[in-house]
Amino acid sequence: MATAVIEEKSGKVVIRNIGLLLSGDIDHPILEADTLVIHDGLITAVGKEKDCDTEGAKTIIDAKQTCVAPGLIDSHVHPVFGDWTPRQGQLGWIDSTMHGGVTTMISAGEVHLPGRPKDIVGLKALAITAQRAFDNFRPGGVKVIAGAPVIEKGMTEQDFKDLAEAGVTLLGEVGLGSVKAGYEAKEMVAWARKHGIQSTIHTGGPSIPGSGLIDKDVVLEADADVIGHINGGHTSLPEAHVCELCEKSSRAIEIVHNGNERVAIAAAKAALELKCPHRVILGTDGPAGSGVQPLGMLRMVALLSSLANIPAELVFCFATGNTARIRNLNCGLIEVGRAADFVFMDRAQHTAGRTLLESVQLGDIPGVGMVMIDGIVRCGRSRNTPPATEVPVVVH
Ligand SMILES: [Zn+2]
Repeated sequence: MATAVIEEKSGKVVIRNIGLLLSGDIDHPILEADTLVIHDGLITAVGKEKDCDTEGAKTIIDAKQTCVAPGLIDSHVHPVFGDWTPRQGQLGWIDSTMHGGVTTMISAGEVHLPGRPKDIVGLKALAITAQRAFDNFRPGGVKVIAGAPVIEKGMTEQDFKDLAEAGVTLLGEVGLGSVKAGYEAKEMVAWARKHGIQSTIHTGGPSIPGSGLIDKDVVLEADADVIGHINGGHTSLPEAHVCELCEKSSRAIEIVHNGNERVAIAAAKAALELKCPHRVILGTDGPAGSGVQPLGMLRMVALLSSLANIPAELVFCFATGNTARIRNLNCGLIEVGRAADFVFMDRAQHTAGRTLLESVQLGDIPGVGMVMIDGIVRCGRSRNTPPATEVPVVVH
């Protein structure tokens, strides 16, 4: 169940007998290595077993020839507090999502908080409280980067400076508050950027009653760091406008589960045609009206690989290394010095695919056999995915 951030360190951990090691790096997605060594939550070696110092490990894991990938990063979630979502009245949704291979989540605004304050002092206080609360408490071990204020008319540069100094690193979706005009959003996004706060803009039609339309011209004028749910959340802009955004903006192209699936495929293809696959990142946009999707990230990977015809090892990079680089996170890539956050996967039992990657390219989601965060095993065989053919074993 839920665990606090402050806990014992992993010590030395060795993961051996890896069948396929996905790097998260879209320029080099598959590594020629079968062993990972970790010390106190960070990767210290990646290589062949004979070349790695595996002596004296506190924990040894036999990956049983399964696939190890960086833990998935959900670029777009709407948490509130703890492991509870009032939107659908559910408990345990973050822990459940960890069973879907997600090890980091990024808040796009704590918008579902009942009675969410919209005055400036109140929205700043909420953001700082949410940032602190999720920094101190990790449901299922998942790193939830929260405290994403929804900007409102009347905010000044000093407000963004105050938020940054208090530890806030993100804005909630621009456009969910009273700031909906391009020129207003542009000024506040620039203030945020100046003070080191990253921004995401809502793209498309209203999400729920009370929210509004953000069209392509507003997205381009505001120039937020992330074109949030470019495929709509739920209602998409016309496909031609989405392709225009991919072409005219240089910002991150975020594709989500709770959006238009046809346009998700079009956006991914447009990014590849424009030779900017590094800009594509994935999220769920859950919890939302569509509910909670513990397997939402894996479903996005399978959707884009199978229907946009993109090799699965590249699509996994959309959900890991691309997001880590764009969001400046110390996870998402298998490299020395990065966080030991991994998902162990194998082809689901009875998939038509002969390998894990082929099964994903055929549209099946993989079976998760283990999830590790900061070098600590958080779950074994997933309670949510179809059963993996083979699962890793903790030797000791
Ligand atoms: Zn939205």
